[in-house]
Amino acid sequence: MNTKEIRVRFAPSPTGPLHIGGVRTALYNYLFARNHGGKFILRIEDTDQNRFVPGAEDYILESLEWCGIEFDEGIHKGGPYAPYRQSERKEIYREYAEKLIETGDAYYAFDTPEELDALRKKLEREKAVNTSYSSLSRKEMKNSLTLTEEEVQSKIESGDDYVIRFKMPENEETRFQDIIRGEVIVNSSTLDDKVLFKSDGMPTYHLANIVDDHLMEITYVIRGEEWLPSLPLHVLLYKAFGWKSPQFAHMPLTLKPDGKGKLSKRDGDRLGFPVFPLEWKNPQTGEVSSGYRESGYIPEAFINILAFLGWNPGTEQEIFSMKELIEAFSLERVGKAGSRFNPEKAKWYNHQYLIQKSDKELAKLYQLVLKEKGIDASDDYVAKVVGIIKERANFVKDFWDQSDFFFESPKEYDRKMVKKRWKENTPEILNSVCKELEIITEFTSENLEVKIKEFLEKNELGMGQVMTALRLTIVGSGRGPGMFDIMELLGKEEVISRIEVGLQKIRNLFR
Ligand code: GLU
Repeated sequence: MNTKEIRVRFAPSPTGPLHIGGVRTALYNYLFARNHGGKFILRIEDTDQNRFVPGAEDYILESLEWCGIEFDEGIHKGGPYAPYRQSERKEIYREYAEKLIETGDAYYAFDTPEELDALRKKLEREKAVNTSYSSLSRKEMKNSLTLTEEEVQSKIESGDDYVIRFKMPENEETRFQDIIRGEVIVNSSTLDDKVLFKSDGMPTYHLANIVDDHLMEITYVIRGEEWLPSLPLHVLLYKAFGWKSPQFAHMPLTLKPDGKGKLSKRDGDRLGFPVFPLEWKNPQTGEVSSGYRESGYIPEAFINILAFLGWNPGTEQEIFSMKELIEAFSLERVGKAGSRFNPEKAKWYNHQYLIQKSDKELAKLYQLVLKEKGIDASDDYVAKVVGIIKERANFVKDFWDQSDFFFESPKEYDRKMVKKRWKENTPEILNSVCKELEIITEFTSENLEVKIKEFLEKNELGMGQVMTALRLTIVGSGRGPGMFDIMELLGKEEVISRIEVGLQKIRNLFR
């Protein structure tokens, strides 16, 4: 039995905000680590200085924190393999790139951008199978395989720009296992001699990623499918270094709701829902993209949504707390096929989490909205309102439309409804109802129901007729929860006053 500790990592590049797919990668790594009692590491891969975006690293940290995804080692937190930011590990990579030169698995290349461009064009013209710098074309290029040792030495000493490239084996079949995709076989002649170390003294993603995964003793690499094409190179790099490679699991793509193509950062708000966990302001363009947090999503709901983007528990259960996800999660239950993001289902999830929250807790959040509107109501009253309307809302921000009439008397009356339902005898009936209401001492929903029903029976009146008229005067339209509940909350005085005012104003509508 392998008793080695399970160690996984989330290794984002701070090139912009994380998007849904990125957070899902972090989540699956986290769930896997916790499920196995292992460690979850956050490593920042910032070796591509051209793509560095200010604020992106803080954004990543804040997003993970909001989601409740905690890491055990990483930037700001430290750990036995620190530093965890690649730009602070620069010296390490050169040493390893040079090791590969020594073993003959890598070489120096001095070709200029113009020469590289000319090569590509020539290979394209010739319709070559592989149009990149590869085992076939490297023989024609300016590198330490074609130049003499003295020439190489003198070029390096005179400060010529150079890169270090991987010497891809010629015509070698590479086989490897991916936990999600099974066996993958690739012939090395279809692959190129990737740059491992750049002229700016920085490693490329491939080298830094492999070296760090090895040094940080990562046992499983769980990442997005977009990295699958890099896997053969990574496996060959492990082989060249003589290291045991971790196990790999490439997760399915997250697709747009129509299934046509990958959901990407560029989708922004174009599809009518956020693709980012938190709101993001592009520091270069000033453009603001919405986030799940700001759109009113509950972090637990957001996590639940992401968990189901590619994984399923194999049961009917849909609502999972983080604890339950940790227990249930396994890579074996992650599918191969891309999973569509369903924005309607996302709202449904939020609704499920919203209604689980206590009225008191929701009232606190709703009070913030009410204060902004200049409405002063007691916590107790707001909690009661929330209690009867939360079933009708997906977000706290929906509360107002469902409950404005609990805080303000109607400003207008639905004309269409008045026309249809307001009969000649309605004012007379409502006046009698008011008299009945006056004498009710306990103004509760149950009492109101009993008394009003008695009144209807006595006067041989239909329920619908009277209740609609009551709703019109009290709410102003046909919306809202049960009338007796609304009346109890508003209280006797307010109800009677609204009926009286309503009678007046509706009469004016007919003038
Ligand atoms: N830095 C890569 C990224 O931005 C990491 C890919 C990997 O997990 O190997 O996604």
